[in-house]
Amino acid sequence: LLDPRPTTATTATTCGYCGVGCTLDVHVRDGEIAAITPARGAPVNRGHACIKGRFAHAFHRADDRLTTPLVRRDGHLVETTWDDAIATIADRLSSTRQQHGPDAIAVISSARATNEENYLAQKFVRTAIGTNNIDNCSRLCHAPSAAGLTASFGLAGGTNPLDDLDRTDCILLAGANPTEAHPVVGARIKQRVLSGARLVVVDPRRTELAALADVHLQASPGSNVAVFNGLAHLLIDEDLLDHDFLDQRTTGFAELAALVQDYPPDVAAEIAAVRAADLISAARLFGRAHHPVIVYGLGITEHAHGTDGVRTLANLAILRGAVGTPGCCGILPLRGQNNVQGASDMGALPDVLPGYQPVTDPAVRNRFAALWGRAVPERPGLRIPQMFDAAIAGEVRAIHVIGEDIVQSDPNATHVRAALRSCDLVVCHDVFPSRTAEHADVVLPAASFLEKDGTFVNFDRRFQRVRPAVAPPGSATSDFDILHRIANAMGIDLGCRTPSAALAECASLTPVFAGVSHQRLDAEGPLHWPCRAPDRPGEAVLHLDGFATPDGRAALAARPYLPPGEQPDGEFPHLLITGRRLVHYNTGSMTRRTPNTELLPAETLELHPADAAHLRVVDGANVTVTSRWGRATLTARLTRDVAPGQVFAAFHFPDAAINDLTSPHTDAATGCPEYKVTAVRISPGP
Ligand code: SF4
Repeated sequence: LLDPRPTTATTATTCGYCGVGCTLDVHVRDGEIAAITPARGAPVNRGHACIKGRFAHAFHRADDRLTTPLVRRDGHLVETTWDDAIATIADRLSSTRQQHGPDAIAVISSARATNEENYLAQKFVRTAIGTNNIDNCSRLCHAPSAAGLTASFGLAGGTNPLDDLDRTDCILLAGANPTEAHPVVGARIKQRVLSGARLVVVDPRRTELAALADVHLQASPGSNVAVFNGLAHLLIDEDLLDHDFLDQRTTGFAELAALVQDYPPDVAAEIAAVRAADLISAARLFGRAHHPVIVYGLGITEHAHGTDGVRTLANLAILRGAVGTPGCCGILPLRGQNNVQGASDMGALPDVLPGYQPVTDPAVRNRFAALWGRAVPERPGLRIPQMFDAAIAGEVRAIHVIGEDIVQSDPNATHVRAALRSCDLVVCHDVFPSRTAEHADVVLPAASFLEKDGTFVNFDRRFQRVRPAVAPPGSATSDFDILHRIANAMGIDLGCRTPSAALAECASLTPVFAGVSHQRLDAEGPLHWPCRAPDRPGEAVLHLDGFATPDGRAALAARPYLPPGEQPDGEFPHLLITGRRLVHYNTGSMTRRTPNTELLPAETLELHPADAAHLRVVDGANVTVTSRWGRATLTARLTRDVAPGQVFAAFHFPDAAINDLTSPHTDAATGCPEYKVTAVRISPGP
């Protein structure tokens, strides 16, 4: 604390940025946040925090915080009262439902909302509206993890806790750059490698950890499945297998072994544009380790075959018996956002209720309906990309967005804007004005994570408390309060008046959360799910007593490599990869209003010097990036961290408009966008 005056209160809460879930001490003086420090005894971060979490407080009193509801009149958003804003939303949602049916309304929730807010959001949609048209931002990132891990192991979460990184002797880090996107995990990996663990990195960019790796497989974008099938081929060929585990606890070995015969090292290496010798070295490092761990990120999931990427990566853990066995270190998906795991866990998804209980199961629906006092719709709802298509087709007439800037964060932004323009009603709750708010009919001022009560679930399935350190500014309020107000105005009582009561209701309906409560979290600290009873601990390591698949066995998946949605060609000869930067977070709405922005005030396009020379572009020059879907102007930054023929940029800055470029290609299984592969053309000048 630079100001020597004493602070008057300190509140321990969970960081609202990335999915690591660091506990932060928020120090308040005279009703204002004076500083944020990492909590020393916190199990996740052990006294560490990154530059995003440490300076998070700087945004919360920014001059342009939304503090009053806005409604659109004569084409302009103007200030109004809460009563008017809520009545406008309730009347127009009710009339939309009456005229076009409940499926004409779609709600997009997000990681910005707590578990309790996500629980209430899906309850609102399923009871007050009467549709399953609810989805959340996990659609854009880790939906393939949920689908892939469920298919392989039976549960939609990473298998082991973060602390198991301290025991591993070999880390396979695939499609993730935790040094920038999950810095506290990045530091833990680095510490482990410096202590002697071996590191294999699969990434098209030379990241900081790639530079530290024993083997860096700089695989071309979209080639993950070929790489993992090639590694599986080598594990089988060199007999680096756990035979007992395969015999007793798995299915699908014969099919996988037959398929990966087609991926000998030279074939897999050619597809991925890596050296066959490096593939062999990587397979031997992973295959000979006693406690291998797989850590992966959006470089695996955000592809047209993202679910296949997750499943073929999971194959490697299964072949080695590295999941569900005593002493194993498992497979850890690095969830991007603070509560993207929790948003899905709470059932803010079109096909499942809380705890991934299918809406198509009559017994599940009846159990929820009995407590809620209203029927649960049977037909699965629309995924986010389908919502936009349905809006353009005139089938969805109202879109209600909770805490997400869909125009900046979703791919093919031109299509998203067209969808919003097609709607009769667009509502958004947010902390700051956003590109989505520019299209909204009603904008509601929301509380930030520093002002909320509830819980988040981090990337290793830990429920952690979120506590309000300060009051929201002006008349801003929580998404929890907003949802109650809208439902009340529609004549529906959602019950569970407090966040604590909402989590208790969710726990009573969801066996895997049955032992979780605010009271217990306050008394005992974080709890992993599954947590099946108030007197039982959370299960940090999954599947020790059997996999949660129907037959209790881990399922190996035989999946062929299929090319990405776009390949370079004569018209669009480069491939654009999108990702994250250390000092900024997602759409940047919070971090761009902190001192972090002095360190990175604008986005740049990473371009290999050989490509720059060919294009006659110098470092710092403006370039125009054109794809089949849009164009953007950026400043070139020459670096050998990207391979020739590839370029990289993040989407933290609205004026860079990176998602005007990205394509509509999505993962066939889940609808997750292919952010990591877009064919583009680079031209000098704006
Ligand atoms: Fe921790 Fe992530 Fe927050 Fe940084 S952004 S403090 S790593 S939770």
